[in-house]
Amino acid sequence: MDVTASALSPRRITRQIAVGSVKVGGDAPISVQSMTTTKTANVDATLEQIYALAGAGADIVRCTCNERAAAEGLAQIVPRSPVPIVADIHFHVEMALAALEAGVQGLRLNPGNLRKPQEIKLVAAEARDRGVPIRIGVNAGSLHPDIYERFGGATPEALVESARIELAYFEEVGFSDVKISVKASSVATMIAAYRLASSTFDHPLHLGVTEAGPLPGGLLKGTAGIATLLAEGIGDTLRYSLTADPVEEARAGRQLLEALGLRERKGLDLIACPSCGRAEVDVIKVANEAQAALAELKLPIQVAVMGCVVNGPGEARHADLGIAAGKKRGHLFIQGQIVRVVPEDEMVQALVDEAKKIAAEGVAARLAARDLGAEAEAAADRALLLDAKGADANHAAQRIEQIRHRTQS
Ligand code: SF4
Repeated sequence: MDVTASALSPRRITRQIAVGSVKVGGDAPISVQSMTTTKTANVDATLEQIYALAGAGADIVRCTCNERAAAEGLAQIVPRSPVPIVADIHFHVEMALAALEAGVQGLRLNPGNLRKPQEIKLVAAEARDRGVPIRIGVNAGSLHPDIYERFGGATPEALVESARIELAYFEEVGFSDVKISVKASSVATMIAAYRLASSTFDHPLHLGVTEAGPLPGGLLKGTAGIATLLAEGIGDTLRYSLTADPVEEARAGRQLLEALGLRERKGLDLIACPSCGRAEVDVIKVANEAQAALAELKLPIQVAVMGCVVNGPGEARHADLGIAAGKKRGHLFIQGQIVRVVPEDEMVQALVDEAKKIAAEGVAARLAARDLGAEAEAAADRALLLDAKGADANHAAQRIEQIRHRTQS
């Protein structure tokens, strides 16, 4: 049974905008964003990174536009990019205008850094005429000083007020093709700010915990903030801000949406048991090897690596494909049914071969082609393991006897 729909709050409906070919808001799929770390003026290096980000799951990529050479680079990047490009603008109004001239599909303006109303309205009018959306990208670390002072800090209310003031400037020139972010490095502040933004605006919201830091802590902070809001139905697009290769950001965004059932699985979902005293193999090593070998296939399947044959196939019966270790052999299973028994050192290769066959022939055909003796062989392995380790490793019968004895009086 698919419980996704009832597990998450209904998605809050926002007005829809289009960042090039990618719709954001309304009923559009929640999109994943990331940002290049190359010099935008270095067109080839930037394009190479954009392709890597798109391959890892990014729907939209942002590049900094901080100097004329960057804007000129954008003019060459935009037509060759596989995904829409957003130019990131701080401080210089002329860079926003140059990025629009370069043909970008979106702008991000930081209201804390680009402060003159007449300049903000100039950019908004130009974006309006070109049909290019703008993200009002408020950031707690660079909040407008007047607002900071008025609210006594970068509070959730202050972040939302900054967005509201910027939006009012845009509306003065008849421009509302806008998405909004109110990011903070504090997860609690960010959650509160987005909740408030969600009840204040009907524009699409771009989620993120800013400056979340290196892995794995950055990933945890980003997930804590973004997933909490998504579960409440808040958010239309997202970016993890990690101090890491941006490919990790795109991958994390994609995987989070797939894990929550908000996007269809595009690639491998490798599940593995945490291992325990019953494990017959180094689960971490086999899982890592399987992850590396299977990820290259780019197949949308769920694969399980389980440490023992006693519990493994049953616990992972929902997986498309899996392997469980036992007595120097691996039990290959499809949707919980044993289809083949292979030597331990061929476990990973067996998974790869079978994954390719499932992709080519389908699950039903591969189940029909199973080795008919495999289930009996597997049952014998399980029986041997239970004999060797004992079905009752805790000596429960003696312990119960002892408990009864002690509690008799
Ligand atoms: S599958 Fe086996 S080895 Fe892995 S955690 Fe479960 S009982 Fe332990």
